[in-house]
Amino acid sequence: MLVDYHMHTPLCLHAEGTPEEYCERALERGIPEIGFSDHGPMPAWYDPASRMSLGQYPRYIEMVREVQLKFEGRLTIKLGLEADYFPGTEEFVKETLRRYEFDYVIGSVHFLGTWGFDNPRYAEEFRRRDLWEVYTEYYAQVEQLAQSRLFDILGHADVVKKFGYVPERDTTLLMKRAVEALKDNDLCFEINTSGLRKPCKEIYPARAFVEVAAKAGVPVTLGSDSHEPGTVGADYDRALRLLKECGYKRIARFTRRKRELVAL
Ligand code: ZN
Ligand code: FE
Ligand code: FE
Ligand code: ZN
Repeated sequence: MLVDYHMHTPLCLHAEGTPEEYCERALERGIPEIGFSDHGPMPAWYDPASRMSLGQYPRYIEMVREVQLKFEGRLTIKLGLEADYFPGTEEFVKETLRRYEFDYVIGSVHFLGTWGFDNPRYAEEFRRRDLWEVYTEYYAQVEQLAQSRLFDILGHADVVKKFGYVPERDTTLLMKRAVEALKDNDLCFEINTSGLRKPCKEIYPARAFVEVAAKAGVPVTLGSDSHEPGTVGADYDRALRLLKECGYKRIARFTRRKRELVAL
């Protein structure tokens, strides 16, 4: 069974198309279960240009409830959220997550300090930095994300590679530590196909990560990270091949933040 648990809505200000269009696309692609996971609200000082405001938060829930009703019996639609992990915002996020009954919450790292490292506008900064230090800092934050216990799914696990800047030194050790943190805190991760559409031209996360996670018995789920309807379920053939080659036979689906493993 296939799912696509990572898709956005226009509320985040950088996605196109109506939720209905995303749902239609899932039906066309033969994906029986999807979930919306738009960028959730954060404190006012935190990246307001890329997310719904706190005032729009109820509208987001309503939009998902609307398509759930509209597609009832044809498509299962989960209520998810992509929440940011950023040190110091844990209490804010915890409080906002408490307000609604989510099926799952994706936790993502998008900032290292004040640097929005996955924003194309600031990609040049990679040239000025020591890449090993950047990766070390990124994965340390992923470990803290897992330890916060606020989330169900680690989003785009190695998104730090987005613009193709990779340290010469092997990063497998950093990935191993991140996987350990997922395991210790009972999180899963996603195969996120959006990396194939980015300069790195590679699924998130890299095969080495998926192999380590499979060996550790960390569950996995699937998402396209769509910011437009056309990419729902994109490159799932490659995602499935990667999962099979790494030994995964089941994926995680979520209902009211309870995880269940289903055969692929
Ligand atoms: Zn986005
Ligand atoms: Fe993200
Ligand atoms: Fe996303
Ligand atoms: Zn994302």
